[in-house]
Amino acid sequence: MSTAADTKAVDRAEILAALDAWGQGGAPAVVEFVAFVAGLVRDSDDPRGVLDRVHRVIGQDEVRRLAAHHCLTVLTADGPNSGLLGGRALVCERLLIVPPGQHPADTLADLRAHLARLADVAEPARALPQIAIACATCGARPGDLCTSHSGTRPRRHNTHQTRTQEWTRVRAQLGQVTTP
Ligand SMILES: [Zn+2]
Repeated sequence: MSTAADTKAVDRAEILAALDAWGQGGAPAVVEFVAFVAGLVRDSDDPRGVLDRVHRVIGQDEVRRLAAHHCLTVLTADGPNSGLLGGRALVCERLLIVPPGQHPADTLADLRAHLARLADVAEPARALPQIAIACATCGARPGDLCTSHSGTRPRRHNTHQTRTQEWTRVRAQLGQVTTP
C-alpha cells in the first residue's frame, strides 16, 4: 500500500532524474543551476512544491524582462475591482495589470497574446485597454470589438466612448502599482 511518504520519495526520485537529464551536457551556468535546484529538491519535504516555486521564480523573471523590454510597469490588481479582469492579465497605457495570484506562465501567455494583437494592424482596437470590459452601448462582450449599425459593422479602430469612460472609472480602482 502506498503512503504519502512513498509518493514523495517517488516524486523526489523522478524529479532528480529529470533534473539530471536536463543538466547533461548543458552550459556551466545551466549545470550549476540544475545542481542548485537538485539540492533544494533533495532537502525538501515537498519536492513538487520546490519545483513549482522554481518555475514561478523563472516565470516572474521572464515576465519582468518582457515587460521591461516593452517599457511596461507591472501592477498587481489587488484593489476592489480586480475581479473585472476575469483572471487575465492585460496591458493598459504603460502598465501590465496582473490578477492577484496568477501563475507567471499564464501572465506570460496573456502578455504575448496582447503583443500579438498589437501586431495585428487590421484591428488595432483590440489592443485598447477598454476592450477588457463589456460595452454598455453595443453590448460587446469583454475581448470583443464594439459594433455599429445594430451589430453589423465591427469597429476596428476604436470603441464606443461609454466603454472608454467606464474603463477609466474601473482602472482607477484596480489596485496599487508594484515595483518590479
Ligand atoms: Zn460598444
